[in-house]
Amino acid sequence: MYLGLSERGSKLLDQVNAFMHNEVFPAEEIYWNQRAELIASGQLHTVPPVVEELKVKAQALGLWNLFLPELSDGLGAVDYAYLAEPMGWSIDIAPESMNCAAPDTGNMEILSMFGTPEQKRTWLEPLTQGKIRSSFAMTEPDVGSSDATNIQLSIERDGSDYVINGRKWWSSGIMDPRCQIMIVMGKTDPGAPRHQQQSMVLVPVKSPGVTIVRDLSVFGYHDQHGHGEVAFDNVRIPATNLLGEEGGGFAIAQARLGPGRIHHCMRTLGIAERALAMMVERAEKREVFGGPLINQGVIQEWIAESRIAIDQARLLTLKAAWVIEKSGAKNARTEIAAIKVVAPRAALQVIDRAMQTFGGAGIGPDTVLPRMYAGVRALRFADGPDEVHLRDLARLEVKRQDLANGALGG
Ligand SMILES: Cc1cc2nc3c(=O)[nH]c(=O)nc-3n(C[C@H](O)[C@H](O)[C@H](O)COP(=O)(O)OP(=O)(O)OC[C@H]3O[C@@H](n4cnc5c(N)ncnc54)[C@H](O)[C@@H]3O)c2cc1C
Repeated sequence: MYLGLSERGSKLLDQVNAFMHNEVFPAEEIYWNQRAELIASGQLHTVPPVVEELKVKAQALGLWNLFLPELSDGLGAVDYAYLAEPMGWSIDIAPESMNCAAPDTGNMEILSMFGTPEQKRTWLEPLTQGKIRSSFAMTEPDVGSSDATNIQLSIERDGSDYVINGRKWWSSGIMDPRCQIMIVMGKTDPGAPRHQQQSMVLVPVKSPGVTIVRDLSVFGYHDQHGHGEVAFDNVRIPATNLLGEEGGGFAIAQARLGPGRIHHCMRTLGIAERALAMMVERAEKREVFGGPLINQGVIQEWIAESRIAIDQARLLTLKAAWVIEKSGAKNARTEIAAIKVVAPRAALQVIDRAMQTFGGAGIGPDTVLPRMYAGVRALRFADGPDEVHLRDLARLEVKRQDLANGALGG
């Protein structure tokens, strides 16, 4: 198993790090000032202009669409994992600056895998150019969506159209005025076997009958792209907007989630690294009981435990990327489930310790720590809650043990 960077990956990592230091970090204050102005003028989800400026710079440097092998000259999963981590250091700005932001990344991946030439021309091209944004709508308010077989939204064939009725929520990115397309999962054949009832369709956000009912906050925060509750009332789309095959929704969902989890986890570890750096800096400067906080054994222990947790999670994530690269996402199910649990857990612990180190300031409005916490806590739900991944992992392990015992004649 080789978990290092290729020569090309190593060069790109230097470039991404330079872009972060030269362009992204200096833009953070501008971003937040511009966002405050936009919010004050009622534009809660309009992108601050500095992000569009950064996109132009990143594109000129070739730091663009690096997540997609088809558009990055076949950059592998392990190389990309290394590149995603620094992007996590500035989670609100960096991924989008380099056109590597969720949910667009996953949506571009499945459009590139399952889209028809026409679908690719209409939606994939402008997404890869960073001209529009997209949303992925699977979760529903009325059913336990951890179990995707519960999903109820109906997609009914009517002549050369589909007619869609139902409700989704937590559709990330939908509040951004640039979001033009939703990939929606729903039932095309409720009578089919459980895993063949669902399909995915492409629904333009502006379609008659699509209503954004609610703008959902996370711990009271509204991120720039937002998360929406969306009603579909007799929404009519041409049948050519079907993605892949009728009944193929589950297979597409599986294909979407593998590489995406590597991105999420590595970015999450970038967030954790930043929290750790903040913790150390604060502990060195802040004085208590006659000396800097850093002299306290308990703080040293938090720092050490944080380093261990981040490095463990990173190694496991890189292993998952390696298995995906070598034998495909299907064979990396155990590792993918494991990192989806491990990385947010590790990052939350680190952020929590950083908050404690900062004292009251750690949960106030003056640092990024509360926002980081809210974002990472949400990851314990987004793309499936921890318990579902643990269930999958346990089932795979039991199967593996049963096979091994069978081989031993036990
Ligand atoms: C910030 C944020 C962004 C999101 N973005 C998107 C998005 O873009 N698109 C989208 O479609 N969805 C999105 N989601 C939704 C997310 O994927 C769902 O919340 C998640 O899959 C869980 O579904 P549910 O909320 O219906 O929980 P439910 O299915 O009601 O489950 C509730 C709880 O039950 C427990 N549970 C479930 N199964 C088991 C089990 N087998 N064993 C033990 N306990 C179990 C878990 O603790 C779970 O949290 C987002 C969520 C958040 C918070």
